[in-house]
This record gives sequence, structure tokens and C-alpha cells, in this order.
Amino acid sequence: MLTLTTRQSLHHLPSSLLRKRSLHLAPPFLLDDYTPRYLQLSEVDAAKKRSQAYAHLAKCNLCPRKCGVNRFEKTGWCLIGEKAKVNVIAPHFGEEPCIQGHHGSGSVFFSMCNLRCVFCQNHDISHQRNGMDLTPEELGDWYMKLQEVGNVHNINLITPEHVVPQVALSILHARSQGLRIPIIYNTSSYDSLESLALLDGLVDIYLPDFKVWEPSTSKRLLKADDYAATARESIKAMHAQVGDLCFTGDGIAKSGVLVRHLVMPGLEEEGAKIMRWLAEEVSRDVFVNIMEQYRPSAHVGKVQTRRKTHGGEETEGDKKEERRYAEINRAVKGEEVESVRKAAERAGLWRFCDPPKHDGFNI
Ligand code: SF4
Repeated sequence: MLTLTTRQSLHHLPSSLLRKRSLHLAPPFLLDDYTPRYLQLSEVDAAKKRSQAYAHLAKCNLCPRKCGVNRFEKTGWCLIGEKAKVNVIAPHFGEEPCIQGHHGSGSVFFSMCNLRCVFCQNHDISHQRNGMDLTPEELGDWYMKLQEVGNVHNINLITPEHVVPQVALSILHARSQGLRIPIIYNTSSYDSLESLALLDGLVDIYLPDFKVWEPSTSKRLLKADDYAATARESIKAMHAQVGDLCFTGDGIAKSGVLVRHLVMPGLEEEGAKIMRWLAEEVSRDVFVNIMEQYRPSAHVGKVQTRRKTHGGEETEGDKKEERRYAEINRAVKGEEVESVRKAAERAGLWRFCDPPKHDGFNI
């Protein structure tokens, strides 16, 4: 076995060996082993969570829409009642390398959402009530299939903000059936502190988006003027629960927060504000994915016809065709993505979802 006693001796080693010894591991974020939080919950706490989940369903104020409806009898703003509606369940390979690994992330795409983003990149799922109605037990059985048949690294709950009680009950059912992989809560961040309290002890990784900063922007594009204030409160609560993103030695994330920001056309200054806030108010060690794949989608770029209203008989010339949300009807530019990244670095953030510069994983 080779031992090195002085710094001087490193300089005499061949460069190929030096490269091999440089593992690029950051010990504070490296775990020897990991047991999901839901397996550490006592039976008493699990029973309390079950009864809280049913109580929330009977009078739902669980997201910022605060409808107050009995979801066993009717639906609120999200249009989903007692049972979660699920559009797709499958191993998924479109996530960050540390989430999808080699076997995929066990993804569950919930139908509908409590936001109505006009640019939604998943609008065929989130804006339409398509899919299977599943009880919490049926949902938990699907997690088991993903684990046993799909051999996936985790269960990835996508757009779950409006079905948190059903999700909590499904995790508790799956734990009784032998689930042993981490749970990911993959959210827009339009959550409430009450729903995050219900998830405390059940979720291992929070994957929150932070989309836009200004209330006027979120009112126009997300249909919620309180979005950024809610996201700030929610992401802080998530970080208080699980901390910064941690990995096992195979490079797979097991616990913590990974924040995503999709850079939007012309909104790079809002992205910069989000980065500064993360560094100053959450953690400089927060793991961030600054995403560049925005494309016009959903309502963006659709033609709408406006009519002049000056009285008299209308002619063809009085009609004017316009593109909806024209200001974001283009792909994002490289320099816009770069400026958000530079703002993040200036603020002190350093853990980004970049392709590794070495042979290993980004930890
Ligand atoms: S989860 Fe649905 S029913 Fe409950 S408050 Fe939100 S929008 Fe309303």
C-alpha cells in the first residue's frame, strides 16, 4: 500500500496516479449509509399523521388557495377530491444525475395543480384531469412496484402540492409493505406550512422550484400574486427539515434540498434575486439546478384576436391578431442563463448541477 507522508512526496508521483487519488468528495455532504425518515417514525407519530391527513381532507386549507372544502364531498380550486388522480407512474430518466442514477427515479406524475402557469412545460398533465383515481393504499402499492420491479433509486412525487394528505397516507401504507427507498417531494413551492408539517418525517428530499420573484410577474404568469412570498417561506421550512443535499458514495442523493430555477426569457434579474435570497437566507451550500430548457408551451404564443371597439360596423380590418404572452414567446438565450449563474456565484453559491469535470459524481 502506498503512503504519502509529506506534501513534497506528492510532487514525485506520476500525474495519472495523482488524478486517481483526487476523489473530489466533500465530506460534509457524504453519507456512509441512509435510512429513510419514514422508517424512523414511531407508530404513535404515524397514527397522528394519519388522523391529521383525514382531518385536512375533511376541511382542506392545505395550500395557499385555502378553499376550506370537504374533499370527501366536493372539490376546491385544484379540482381533486378524496382520491389522487395520477397520470403516469414509471421509472424516469429526465431528472438530475444524482436523482435518476442508473436505474431511474420512480416518478409519479399527479394530474392537476394548484397553480396555472401559462407556460407550464407539463400542461397536458397539470392542467387536465386525466389519469387514474387511486386510493392512498393503491398509490402506496405502486411505490412498492416501482421499488421491487423497477429497482428505482427513489419515489419521486411530481406536482403533489394539492394531494399532500393522500401522499402522506400512501407513504405510511407503503412503509408497512416494506418500502425502503427515499421519498422525493417535487414541488412548485406553492405549499403551505401546514402541509409541510404533515410531510415532516415522511419526505427525504425536497425538490422545490423557485420560478419568479416579482408579485406582478407571478400574478400574470402563474396566476398567484403571493407565489414568491409563499415559495420563500416554504423553501426555508423544507431546509429546516432536511438541510443541504447529501449523497451516498455512489453519487445518489439521499436527503436534503435541491432547488430548481428555470431561467425565463427576459426575467434573468428575477433569477438573480432568487439566487441572492437562497445564499443569504437559506444556505450558501444549497444545491441548485439553474435550468436552460425553457420553451414556449401551454398558452404562450397562442393566437388571440382583439377587436377594436370604436362603434359602428366591424370590418376585417378592425380585427387584430396577437400572440398571447408574447414577452416569453421564445427560447431563453445563453447570456440570460449565464447572467443568473454569475449572480449565483457572486452571491456565494457553489453547488450546481453541472456535468462533473472529473471522472466521478458531483458531491
Ligand atoms: S389543496 Fe385543493 S382543495 Fe385544498 S386548499 Fe388547495 S386548491 Fe383548495
